[in-house]
Amino acid sequence: MKNIYIIGVGLIGGSLAIDIKKNNPEAIIHGISRKQATLDEALSLNLIDKKATLDDIENADLVIISIPVDATVKLLPSILDKISDSGLVVDAGSTKVDICKVVENHPKRRNFLAMHPIAGTEHSGPSAAIPNLFIGKTNIVCEVEKTTFKLQEKALKLFGDIGMRIRYMNPEAHDKHIAYMSHLSHISSFMLGKTVIEKEKNERDIFDMAGSGFASTVRLAKSSPEMWTPIFKQNKENVIETLKEYIDNLNQFKELMEKDDFEEVYNEMKNTNHIKQILNGIA
Ligand code: NAP
Repeated sequence: MKNIYIIGVGLIGGSLAIDIKKNNPEAIIHGISRKQATLDEALSLNLIDKKATLDDIENADLVIISIPVDATVKLLPSILDKISDSGLVVDAGSTKVDICKVVENHPKRRNFLAMHPIAGTEHSGPSAAIPNLFIGKTNIVCEVEKTTFKLQEKALKLFGDIGMRIRYMNPEAHDKHIAYMSHLSHISSFMLGKTVIEKEKNERDIFDMAGSGFASTVRLAKSSPEMWTPIFKQNKENVIETLKEYIDNLNQFKELMEKDDFEEVYNEMKNTNHIKQILNGIA
């Protein structure tokens, strides 16, 4: 895979560019973005070797699409129209149902692999790109059987080489599980941040009193709304279901406190301490 085109050279696209280039120094990484300033930044940070445009896609051995998921749904069919017969297109989007659906009947569907690297930070844009982001992380691949075997093999080798473990899932299962494992924690963090900002109008007090517990719990509230709004829109039903369960749990906890049932408050927390064993398994 010599000519690699990355559409969206932000946190994920840029971090992929760094690790792929490290393992494949002969590869030429071409960057494509909406804004020239973003491409200039990616070039100056050495994330990409060259600037390119969508018209160059026919020369690509591999195209990685790492832009917000609504933009991916719009752009993906036209990228597949342009890709050569031996070229591969992958996307890194955090939702999978709508992305897989938009190309289900595309004549070049076999040149596309849908994936979601479960790795990231709360930062965005080219300056957020970091090396080794994907080591030991899971890459969820959807509908692998719809991609030609040869291209599957190439992709799985490339992503295996940068340290990722592959997990296969259908798009519906992916979107359902990821609503619990990722989308809910982002909403929870955004709304915790909102609650504290509204209550503590004096930012100086927040700064002085915020312990590391608060900082780590609201870390995700720094994430980009431009990226997250389309994720919540595409995965609306699953996210609403998780929110209902979460709100029920919050209400139940509040009721226990109102009833002075602190034995049950203790039990609720004790039972949830089990999360330690679960997280140790994935740390
Ligand atoms: P990011 O750092 O914000 O980078 C996205 C890039 O896409 C930006 O540099 C931006 O470039 C471009 N972009 C923004 N809006 C666009 C639009 N409407 N049309 C075309 N280009 C647009 O985001 P990211 O975190 O790398 O996320 C990229 C993809 O990876 C998303 O699909 C996301 O769901 C997925 N993902 C994210 C994470 C995570 O933790 N962040 C983890 C796994 C997967 P310009 O400045 O030129 O507009």
